[in-house]
This record gives sequence, C-alpha cells and structure tokens, in this order.
Amino acid sequence: MEEKQLPGFIMCVCTGKCPGFQAMDIWDFINQVRVELPVEYGFIHPQLCEEDGDRFLADFLKSHRKVVIGACAPNMQKKMFKDAFKEAGLDIEKDAVMLDIRDMTNEKAISVVEEALEKLGLEV
Ligand code: SF4
Repeated sequence: MEEKQLPGFIMCVCTGKCPGFQAMDIWDFINQVRVELPVEYGFIHPQLCEEDGDRFLADFLKSHRKVVIGACAPNMQKKMFKDAFKEAGLDIEKDAVMLDIRDMTNEKAISVVEEALEKLGLEV
C-alpha cells in the first residue's frame, strides 16, 4: 500500500432502520465526510455484515486501499469482516479502522472520524 494513499470511508447504517443511527442525519454526515475530510471517497452501505456485504467487500478490498468503517462496535466488525480482509490478503488490524458511530449526533460522529484520520497521520 502506498504511504500517501487516502483511505476510503464506508458508513454502514444497519438497514437504515436501526435506532442507533436516528440521532444523526446520515446524508449530511456522509457528505461532510466525503467533501471535507481527507478520504478518497465516502459512501453508505445498507448492511455490510450480510452476505451481499461479504460479496461487496470481496470486490472492494481488491483495491488494497486502507478503509475506515463507521458502523457498530469495532469488536463485532472485526469478527464479521476478518475473513474478507484475510481473503483479500489484508491485515484487518493494520488496513482497517473500525469506528462505532451509533447513538451520536453528526457533530460527535464527525469528531470521531476526524480523530481516527489524525491517528492515521492525515491532516484534518
Ligand atoms: S456491520 Fe454493524 S452496523 Fe452494519 S449492518 Fe452489521 S451490525 Fe449493523
């Protein structure tokens, strides 16, 4: 992976029906991430831990781009996504940053993403 490559950002919204995302406007959030923060792109997936999410990750991870995922508990994400990363030849501990952004306002969730990007050495 190249040093200067920006990460991709995936927000998973748990089908869009989960109460955990009702405190934020998800469209304002993802637009702010993709336009204002140092990411290559940002988008929303409806349910990453379902079978089509596995198929999506199998394709997406072929780029070998570092990825930041804003979704549910990081431990759960690691369990659910570890095989996809392994199969893509990636190390989930190094090549992914999992963030829990549930039950947050837009402002709070943005600050969590900013902090994660700063930890990756990016200027926010
Ligand atoms: S990855 Fe997490 S946030 Fe996304 S659908 Fe599964 S449980 Fe919900």
